[in-house]
Order: sequence, then C-alpha cells, then structure tokens
Amino acid sequence: MMQLSRFPRARLAHLPTPLEPLQALTAHLQGPQVYIKRDDCTGLAFGGNKTRKLEYLLGEAQALGATTIFSEGGLQSNHVRQTAAAAARLGLKCELVLSRNVPGRPQDYEVTGNIFIDRLLNARIHVCEPGEDRSARMAAEMDAARDRGEVPYHIPTGGSNATGALGYVSCMLELLDQARSRDLTIDHLVLASGSGGTQAGMAIGLSATQSGVRGIGIDIDNDGPQVMRDVRRIADDCCAKLGIPALPDGDFVLETGHARTGYGVPTPEMVEAVRLVARLEAILLDPVYSGKAMAGLISMIAEGRFRRDETVVFVHTGGAPGLFAYIDAF
Ligand SMILES: *Cc1c(COP(=O)(O)O)cnc(C)c1O
Repeated sequence: MMQLSRFPRARLAHLPTPLEPLQALTAHLQGPQVYIKRDDCTGLAFGGNKTRKLEYLLGEAQALGATTIFSEGGLQSNHVRQTAAAAARLGLKCELVLSRNVPGRPQDYEVTGNIFIDRLLNARIHVCEPGEDRSARMAAEMDAARDRGEVPYHIPTGGSNATGALGYVSCMLELLDQARSRDLTIDHLVLASGSGGTQAGMAIGLSATQSGVRGIGIDIDNDGPQVMRDVRRIADDCCAKLGIPALPDGDFVLETGHARTGYGVPTPEMVEAVRLVARLEAILLDPVYSGKAMAGLISMIAEGRFRRDETVVFVHTGGAPGLFAYIDAF
C-alpha cells in the first residue's frame, strides 16, 4: 500500500522492538491496560526513537554518496548521539553542531550522558558560543567540509523531516502486526513529541492502515502551537513522498501542559513518573521526553480520559543516558 521498501534504508536497529504489558503500573494506576513499545531498545549505542529515522536518513545519505553526516541539537541530544553511532557503524564521518539550549543545568551537563557518548563514538563536536546562530554555524562547517573534499549530508534537528518520519510509519506497521499476532486491540498510542517527526510518522502509519488507533503526542517543548505546526508540515511532506493524500486535522492530537517549565527543565511530575516506572517495572525513562510523556499519561489516566477496558500503548522513545545529566533533579 505505502511501499516503504522503495526507499533506501540502512539496517541499524534491532527490530522488532518488544511490546510488553506493564502489569504493575496498570494495577497501580487503576486505569486502562497499559502496554509499552520498547523503542528504547533499538540497540544502537543505547538506542532510542532516532535510530528508526536514521535507517531511512542514512539510507538516503549513502545513496547520495555522502562521506560526512552533519546534524545538530542540544548538548544532551539523544538524536545526535544516535546519529554519531549510525555514522560510526556505516564507516562515515560525523560532525555535530551543538548549542546550550537548557538553562540552569549544572556543570557536568556539558560532559556526561549523551555528549560523553558522542565523543566516544568519534564525532567531531562544534559547540556554539552563547548567542551564536546554530544554522549559520552549521552552514559554515558544511562549507569547510566541502572545501576539504567531503560530501556532506545534513540531518535536521531530531532527524525530523519526511525521510526520517518514514521510520515511524514503519514502526506503526510493526506494532500493528505485533498486536494482530496476539489478538490485542490497541485503542490509544501515547508518545513524547518534540521536533515532530515521530508523531508525524505515527499519524500516517495509524491513518493509512485505517487502524482505528488514536495517536496522542505529548508536547515536551512547552510550545504546543509550534510542535503542532512542525508535526503537520512533516506529515504533509511525508504523505507527498509516499504518494498518499494528506491527513485530516483530526489525525493530529497533541496534549500540552506537561512541560510547563520548558524544554529539558525538570518538573516534579517527571521525577515522580521516572521513579514510579523504575520501581514498578525496572524500566528507565528519561528526564526530557519519556518521563514527561509518562507524567502526561498518568495525569490523563487520573482525569478519567480512558476507560478501564481500553488498551493504551506508551511508546518508550529512549533517552535514558540523559538521566546522568540530571542527577541533581532526583
Ligand atoms: C527526540 C526524542 C523524542 C521526540 O521525537 P521527535 O520526533 O523529535 O518529536 C522523544 N523521546 C526521546 C527520548 C527523544 O530523544
């Protein structure tokens, strides 16, 4: 139907990722049946949701003859960590342009967690000066690489564009297959939404298969309108790439209000959610995305937004290496 196989793809992820019931959490919350899709277990240098996007992005980069992969993000970006790993795996060079995008973090935020792993993976790191324009710096570093004879390939923040979103269209096909093979009816799917590519791919995968599953993104940027615009734009581009009609507005649902302190700034509800899921399920959420998304899910359950006989799948998008940069918050 969507013929994903016509797009070049580098095999990087351990797939399918497990789909598991969260029995203890379900009993504790006394709401709907909660399952987890373990996309934190995609396998590439601590895994996470970006690995699925990178399969299509690096597939395209290889098809174009790229020699150096460029990407960008904050100092604790999970996306750039997985990008550095994907490049290393495929024998490509990697350069990262990073900015300090979270106020009030302690000193070790700049050396531990994801950025430590970026260095282990041999990525070349450029950290922007305060006030420096990240896209201008990116353009300059890409020009410098071209001058050295490299063929650069640029991946936007979060790997969020039409090509990256294909990774989550494909994830939905995988998930619906898992549900079908065990006779499980999924009513709702919940995931953290930031740069929007994951939610865009989810919306397309759930809609184009007429799955009847309602996808819900949880805004972790504290900027609902912007996240919604990004999701919509990426989904429209991805539908065009797939040659299918654009989705109706109703296919995009974004829950806001769970990141009110801003991107990457801890909330008491996030700390609570990360602790709860660690203690009850021995699953490690992260402080920036999946912890806030789980806090959102917990509060939606408390508000009675789901029936007891419904099934909700929480997509764990990864990010646990970021915990080490947030020890102070716990
Ligand atoms: C990037 C990221 C997300 C959000 O995905 P987007 O496609 O950027 O919206 C969610 N969780 C984790 C752990 C991430 O690193």
